[in-house]
Amino acid sequence: MNHTGAIERAKEHFAELLNEQLKRVDQMKAGEDWADYSRLMPIIIGVVGGDGIGPFITKEAVRVLEYILAEEIQSGKVELRWISGLTIEERVKVMKALPEETLAALKECHVILKGPLTTPKKGDKWPNLESANVSMRRELDLFANVRPVKVPEKGIDWIFYRENTEGEYVLGSSGFNVTEDLAVDFKVITSQGAERIVRLAFEYARNNGINRVSAVTKANVIKTTDGKFLEIARRVAAEYPEIQFDDWFVDIMAAKLVDEKRRRDFKVIVLPNLYGDILTDEAAEFQGGVGTAGSANIGKRYAMFEAIHGSAPRMVDEGRAQYADPASMMRACVMMLRHISFIDQASRMEMALDICGQFEKRVSLTGRPDGATGAQYADYVLETVQDPDLQNRWQRYQASGEVKL
Ligand code: NAD
Repeated sequence: MNHTGAIERAKEHFAELLNEQLKRVDQMKAGEDWADYSRLMPIIIGVVGGDGIGPFITKEAVRVLEYILAEEIQSGKVELRWISGLTIEERVKVMKALPEETLAALKECHVILKGPLTTPKKGDKWPNLESANVSMRRELDLFANVRPVKVPEKGIDWIFYRENTEGEYVLGSSGFNVTEDLAVDFKVITSQGAERIVRLAFEYARNNGINRVSAVTKANVIKTTDGKFLEIARRVAAEYPEIQFDDWFVDIMAAKLVDEKRRRDFKVIVLPNLYGDILTDEAAEFQGGVGTAGSANIGKRYAMFEAIHGSAPRMVDEGRAQYADPASMMRACVMMLRHISFIDQASRMEMALDICGQFEKRVSLTGRPDGATGAQYADYVLETVQDPDLQNRWQRYQASGEVKL
């Protein structure tokens, strides 16, 4: 059979994709400096409520944030700015994943606290729009997805640095059927893309006195792209001699994360997009409910902080949105405060969340009317943050190792 025509069409399509990717490389090469928050006045924190349970949990997290940052807000060092236009209804109205005016408003902020956004999927009532989250990560070049996973009673204290803009995902919708029988997708790794995520992971380790970074690939099989990621990881590692570096294949790493003897040793884990997507979900399972975890999407100019979960439409349909756990958004606030160098404020909020969510648990959420509401939980966190003895109280719990499950 002669496939010349099919191959020519495929080559043209491939050439277009390569052009796009090389443009992206040029943009990365042109580079951008990291934002210096200490020089900004005010630091503008954009707040997006999101869909479903999003506005409920975001409101509660913002209540705590406003208390923690009261002085900075009053002095004009920080401004909290609510950004509209991103609910699924608003996106569908203009048929855009990220309406232009909203994107412009987001770009006027320095960091963003974002509630979950619904992505239409086949079969639901919304037309098929691209994910606003994916679109925002791309438009704001948020190349690092950072997810801490902590389970003190099991000795787990990991932080994942997942590359967020390349790998199998960057051309995820641009694969093609060369013929009826041959489907092709692409995986893209660039030197610049790999280097910036690996470097961010090492910088985090160095700045936090952590002595180990592990890279995850499948470079024994996916030799060119994963090979490049690994080679760059090794090169960057050589610049951080005080930090031990090792590399793992993704299948073994998936197994090691459930190996109780070995997993305590992992600390900072850096990995390309798809492996990161899978392993961070696996890891979050050890931590308990998704309602307790936050994540950061970091770029040089912008950064966005969110819960790891979605908009939980069923909770809304069943009238239970007010019982959703706001701890995920509060954990996202902690990461945001740390990112903009409000270290003391971040520590206080984190200690209060540890006390309320892991050590004491005087107010418990079940997601249903037999548990507390998100507002009651936020009151508990606020009361705890205000405790003048907060640090000693946290240290006492930490030392006793007592955790309520
Ligand atoms: P989901 O995370 O929204 O919900 C799964 C289940 O987790 C819920 O039914 C609920 O029982 C529980 N849950 C989630 N958050 C909770 C909280 N704070 N408190 C208590 N319980 C909580 O997952 P899904 O149903 O697959 O996704 C719903 C929508 O969210 C989809 O449109 C999806 O695309 C979107 N989503 C958005 C993001 C994001 O904005 N980053 C992430 C994931 C999913």
